[in-house]
Amino acid sequence: MPMNTNPLLAPWDTPHQLPPFDKIKPEHYAPAFEAAMAEHRAEVDAIAATTEPATFENTVAAFDRSGQSFARVVGVFFNLTSSETSDALQAAERDLMPKIAAHQNWLSLHEGVFKRVDALYRTRDRLGLDPEQLRLLERVHLDFVREGALLVGAARTRYAAITEELAGLFTTFSQSVLGDEAAFCLELKTEADRAGLPGFVLDAAKSVAADKKIDGYAINLSPSLVDPFLTYSTRRDLREKVWRAFKARGESCAERDTRPIAEKILRLRAELAGLMGYGTYADYALVDRMAKKPAAVNDLLMRVWEPARARALTEQKDLEALAATEGFKGPLSGWDWNFYAEKLRQRRFKLDEAELKPYFQLDRMMDAMFDAAGRLYGIGFKEVHGVPLYHPDVRLFEVRSTAVDTLVGVFLVDSFARSTKRGGAWMSEFRGQSRNRPGGLEYPIIINNTNFAKAAAGKPTLLSLDDVRTLFHEFGHGLHGLLSNVTYNRLAGTSVLRDFVELPSQINEHWALTPAILKKHAIHAQTGEAIPDRLIELIKKSEHFNQGFLTVAYTSCALIDMSLHQHPNPEKLSLADFEASECKRLGVPEAVGMRHRLPQFRHLFSDNGYAAGYYVYMWAEVLDADGFEAFEATGDVFNPELAAKFKRFVLSAGNTLDPADAYRAFRGRDPDVGALLRGRGLV
Ligand SMILES: [Zn+2]
Repeated sequence: MPMNTNPLLAPWDTPHQLPPFDKIKPEHYAPAFEAAMAEHRAEVDAIAATTEPATFENTVAAFDRSGQSFARVVGVFFNLTSSETSDALQAAERDLMPKIAAHQNWLSLHEGVFKRVDALYRTRDRLGLDPEQLRLLERVHLDFVREGALLVGAARTRYAAITEELAGLFTTFSQSVLGDEAAFCLELKTEADRAGLPGFVLDAAKSVAADKKIDGYAINLSPSLVDPFLTYSTRRDLREKVWRAFKARGESCAERDTRPIAEKILRLRAELAGLMGYGTYADYALVDRMAKKPAAVNDLLMRVWEPARARALTEQKDLEALAATEGFKGPLSGWDWNFYAEKLRQRRFKLDEAELKPYFQLDRMMDAMFDAAGRLYGIGFKEVHGVPLYHPDVRLFEVRSTAVDTLVGVFLVDSFARSTKRGGAWMSEFRGQSRNRPGGLEYPIIINNTNFAKAAAGKPTLLSLDDVRTLFHEFGHGLHGLLSNVTYNRLAGTSVLRDFVELPSQINEHWALTPAILKKHAIHAQTGEAIPDRLIELIKKSEHFNQGFLTVAYTSCALIDMSLHQHPNPEKLSLADFEASECKRLGVPEAVGMRHRLPQFRHLFSDNGYAAGYYVYMWAEVLDADGFEAFEATGDVFNPELAAKFKRFVLSAGNTLDPADAYRAFRGRDPDVGALLRGRGLV
């Protein structure tokens, strides 16, 4: 296919150089990747082939500038395979993933470039570099080393083979879990099947049914539907059915059994760590994290684990006592927890999720997050209509600085669950920020995805309190991408260490529930009234409720992830046995369980990013809890001085600063774990 007829390769003269979504077809990816990778190879080979001695500009800066066509195609491809897939796109994914991995391997093992980078690295103190340039040089050097640039001979070849095989396994793992989620369908045929379900669950069940071409109501395995179903359905038999199917994702049928895939991934990771000179994969992964060593992670998790477990067991007793008054006998099961927890919540706080929900209209809550960010960081959001995007539900915004009316970035929002989108919520980019470009500044193009259940036509989509937190969380990542203000793309936005990247997202959740934001934006969908003070107080009071359950469900996953990746003998590892024995060792209460069971644990097995890294949310929570306390301590959660520091040293700085230094510059001191324990009510 000639270049100019392939819309992925032709110049994008669309508004903001957005991908021409309406012209891109699945068959365009293979030739586009081929051409973009060839161009990238030529650019990188040219850096290595320069006869002039290595300089920062002709080597490190040039390397940072290379591969822009490739990045452009990657941006479209990965966003669409996640958010709007199809059989054809999945086939392209299976075909292209190993090729993309091979390309990235080639790049990260490029001897010619590494030699020049290494020469510069050895003389880095004498090059007269500014702090960002020095950081980039050190970062690029470390990238090479971690990708095996120091490996020679057979080890080098084996390293490349392992990475390529892993890429294929990751795809199979994700597609299998997604397959299980899409395959499940529980039809709610009779009035009795729908007993207890409030209107918003029924609305969501109706659109699931419509999606599956069924007349009536149905439940799929989207977490945003499973959770409320387990909370409200009075049909214990149906709750059990949904809960069991949800927990069995990844092991429900032979052709989509993810366990052998995960076992293989773990064996390959252990081998890879060995090649790199580390005892376990966890040791290898932690070198490039703020935590630095597995022991530091275990210390933090265990400080939280015992108080959380004790709290969960107390919570279970409370729920069983309540259930007994309704004639329930025996211990509580997993499918009972949400149901009785909601009853207890209502009894204790008179706080009914269904009463709360009409106050949290999706559109209003988006206004709320824009408003909070505007007050803190001096930016405004203007919706742009009429630009073709990849799905009619996606919305497009220009982000402008309010002090001097300049464009900061472009923001897309894709809110709703559908069968062509993977589960969960995430931020990603179509283009990262950079000033190291031929045309000077390139502003970022960022997208947030969530899986909210879409209301029936003509009705506002209503969010749960958890959904509101998710919305603000992902928007925190979005701000990290949008407010990036660095020179080099490798250091831009969220390209920070993995256990630092959740700080912007988690701290942003705190603003969602501040009275100033709620009073203005939490407006009842029917009555148009602002949320009453009574409910705001109840939300505050109930923040510690069920924290034992939530903390155990999360921390068990984080602990088991760490022990899984420190396994002394991965060749003999059986995923099922390991999960069972670890849960027993830790004493995970059965009615709580792990939030993600290993066969469906996408964080660990759909890429390497969160392997030996699920702990990062809690690591970052130490920072976000401590950081938000700083705002509260001033008596103004929008304190302009602190907000300016947070913007400068965290949101805009990307990876130009060491994370511990960046935090100190914002906070004035090192973080303290006390705020986390207080925030969860565990002290
Ligand atoms: Zn996050």
